[in-house]
Amino acid sequence: MEIIHVSAECYPMAKAGGLGDVVGALPKYQTKLGHIAKVVMPMYRTKFLYNHEFEVVHKGAFGMAHYWFEYTIIKEATNVLGFDLYLVDINGLLNREKIYGYDDDTERFTAFQIAVVDWMSKWHHHPDIVHVHDHQAGLVPFMMQHCYAYKNLSSIKTILTIHNAQYQGWMDWSKSNYIPDWDKWKSGLLEWDNTINSLASAIKCASKVNTVSHGYLEELMYMANGLEKLFQYERGKCFGILNGIDTEVWDPETDKYLDEKYGLKDFAEKKRANKKELCARFNLEENKPLIVFIGRLVGEKAADLLPQVIGDSIYFMEGKMNFLVLGSGDPYIEYQLSNLHIHLFGYYNTQIGYNEKLSHEMYAGADFLLMPSRIEPCGLNQMYALRYGTIPIVRRTGGLKDTVKDFGEPDGFGICFNTASVGDICHAVYRATELYDQPEKMNQIIQHIMQIDHSWERSTEIYLNLYRA
Ligand code: ADP
Repeated sequence: MEIIHVSAECYPMAKAGGLGDVVGALPKYQTKLGHIAKVVMPMYRTKFLYNHEFEVVHKGAFGMAHYWFEYTIIKEATNVLGFDLYLVDINGLLNREKIYGYDDDTERFTAFQIAVVDWMSKWHHHPDIVHVHDHQAGLVPFMMQHCYAYKNLSSIKTILTIHNAQYQGWMDWSKSNYIPDWDKWKSGLLEWDNTINSLASAIKCASKVNTVSHGYLEELMYMANGLEKLFQYERGKCFGILNGIDTEVWDPETDKYLDEKYGLKDFAEKKRANKKELCARFNLEENKPLIVFIGRLVGEKAADLLPQVIGDSIYFMEGKMNFLVLGSGDPYIEYQLSNLHIHLFGYYNTQIGYNEKLSHEMYAGADFLLMPSRIEPCGLNQMYALRYGTIPIVRRTGGLKDTVKDFGEPDGFGICFNTASVGDICHAVYRATELYDQPEKMNQIIQHIMQIDHSWERSTEIYLNLYRA
């Protein structure tokens, strides 16, 4: 089968979260199984761009409202990722340092999608599947089916994977002239709640839709940031497929970011060495349980509760544990977490920003990983933590519910709680400190979780079945 993935992120070219990890891994595993998988994404100004060779494969142009854009498609020349990576360059629009967060993101990603569809319409042969990811690629199925210029693509099957339904790519109708001329009888396929909604359009137009866990799909039926009814109508073509983890990147035995690599046999000694180094660097006490948080500092992740959870836990449990936070996001949460450091010196530290290397070191050096998420479509962090022998403390939601079982239950191995409240999270932290005081039980759990298989092989096969369907 030939599959082309359309996405705003793909690790290691550009990643802001789980979307990048998934689009960097799934095509690789599809290629390993003998299929042709390609990725097309915007050309941002990232390190990867400057450190790799690219060749120009196509040049084209299109109109978007009263703008005229010339675009270039370049391809990574050495196949370093194990699949073909294509980048779309639209001068001035996409070649920026950040992935998201600009005032003209609507224009940027609409132009990106038009360029992709325009380029595909020039191909002599067609892929079997166009696989679009999240709202930044959500208009692609509509454009392929209903824009007059791209009618030659209308019979190609499309799949939408929803990594996060909170963000939907809303666009005022006054911008509808951005979309290349289309059959106006089909306008309803663009709309939800009186506005153009890219994600809703993709849910309506894609041949099949999947979310990145079963648990999340069920939640979307009653909590989908306004799209609940749409998910209920379209339930028949929606599936849940749990993400995998790329074990070529995420393996404590081979991890290029770790000085002390480890496996099942020597985790006790080597994990301790990783923790020691991390604690020394961040002024923390290596003999206490180290609880870390890694992620976007936003309400979805319940990061707003972290300052109070950390403060209360340390205060009421008399400094029995250490906390280390790595993240970026809401400036107010960043500010609060940075300031907390002054009051809790020696018990807590933080690094605000995005740091791939440090994240690996934290998965390896921590005892526990805290994920109190309000919404978690799949969550990769807990799966990385498991592989690195770090016990996840999670709220029972979305993909977390599907992947972590409380150690109080038969065959359980994590710490689970029900509500994203300071009280519930602190109680889970308390349980972690109690568990830490039972080294034998800890070791038993670590041995068990390091062997849990969340590799991509299984999920890749399920995706292929979805394509076949
Ligand atoms: P989401 O996509 O909602 O942010 P996921 O759990 O699916 O959450 O994926 C998060 C990914 O992003 C993980 O690989 C995690 O390690 C990484 N990550 C998040 N924030 C940071 C950060 N500040 N520095 C390094 N890696 C980060």
